Amino acid sequence: MIHHDHATSGICRARAAIYRKIGLADGGLQGPVYPLPLRGAEVRGSSTTHHPCGRVMDTLTPQQRSERMARIRSRDTKPELILRKLVHGMGYRYRLNRRDVVGNPDLAFIGRRKALFLHGCFWHRHDCPAGRRVPKSRLDFWEEKFSKNVERDALVSEQLRKAGWRLLVVWECQLRDLTKVARKIRKFLDA
Ligand SMILES: [Zn+2]
Repeated sequence: MIHHDHATSGICRARAAIYRKIGLADGGLQGPVYPLPLRGAEVRGSSTTHHPCGRVMDTLTPQQRSERMARIRSRDTKPELILRKLVHGMGYRYRLNRRDVVGNPDLAFIGRRKALFLHGCFWHRHDCPAGRRVPKSRLDFWEEKFSKNVERDALVSEQLRKAGWRLLVVWECQLRDLTKVARKIRKFLDA
């Protein structure tokens, strides 16, 4: 597995290219460098099986499917909960999803003028296995979606910085090592 060295490059090449396109030197991302993931994207259990003839068979009843979907949805909100719990446990108090702060940060520390963003690796194109994953079909559609996300992240970062805020992006894959991410967050908030 090839790991980009964020400590020396600051941002990965793909991201840098997008920043250049929209005229931002570094996308406004400053300060601490994020640790690299330990392993690839989580592989979720599949409820489909392949018939010997190659057709995909749905093995679940509608009831089972809807229960499973509910579980997946609730699991999808988990990273936010993990992050909130962690930061709260560290003794910091924050506001959630403040709409009056640019970019609607996941956690806003109003007095400190600091914002924490939790980014899904896939959607926000983290330089990690999950973030480098490219869907197999409708590539144009996805690429446009991804660029838009990355551009918006960069603009939010720039605008926040201009307004005197500092921000830290926590990537979903970093939540696998809570000790490490806690150290980073403390360093960021106490600076
Ligand atoms: Zn990641």
